[in-house]
Amino acid sequence: RKPVVGLTGGIGSGKTAVSNRMAELGAHVIDTDLIAHQLTAPGGLAIPALIATFGPQCIQQDGAMNRAYMRQRVFDNPDERKQLEGILHPLIRDEVGAQLQKDTGLYSVLVIPLLIEKGGWMHLLDHIVVVDCDTETQIKRVMDRNGFTREQVIAILKTQTDRQARLSRADLVIENNSSLSELIEKTDWAHGEILKLRLN
Ligand code: ATP
Repeated sequence: RKPVVGLTGGIGSGKTAVSNRMAELGAHVIDTDLIAHQLTAPGGLAIPALIATFGPQCIQQDGAMNRAYMRQRVFDNPDERKQLEGILHPLIRDEVGAQLQKDTGLYSVLVIPLLIEKGGWMHLLDHIVVVDCDTETQIKRVMDRNGFTREQVIAILKTQTDRQARLSRADLVIENNSSLSELIEKTDWAHGEILKLRLN
């Protein structure tokens, strides 16, 4: 059996850079964020259940879920957040399962941006890789990339898994505090470690 690797890290930690490199090296990358977007795009599989649960106002003109509206709506409402997750998570899991079946590549990389403990991923994963950088570096990179203020980035970080909690879950940490070329080198090393995994 080929390994299934969970790749996680906070916003702007470098997950995309790492997973792109792993794809170049022959891994099969499955991005849960991308799947969530597809499910909530116009005609997406989640749309009927979203309308039934949250009303037509959760859908925008083009037929996609109104992300800004839903983010606002569940922000202070844990019950509705659970309902939203209850719709999305099973559909995401089904799609991930289908993509895992395809079994292309040397190993599969499941990119999971948020809580790796949440959403029932743990039993699927043979190895957890965490991309980690200093909080200050992370804040600066997201400010640069998204044009956010420091306060906006800090507000997002507060909604994410605590850095230490995430690190404590890691089988392997890819540290991303220096250049992109060093990140590539570290990813190549992690790739080698993953290939050494022996699974029953
Ligand atoms: P998100 O969860 O928000 O999608 P991510 O974890 O996928 O983020 P990336 O998109 O890979 O993170 O990186 C975030 C930003 O920081 C990007 O603009 C990327 O080009 C930049 N970046 C990542 N690593 C480095 C680095 N070592 N040096 C300079 N810039 C970097």
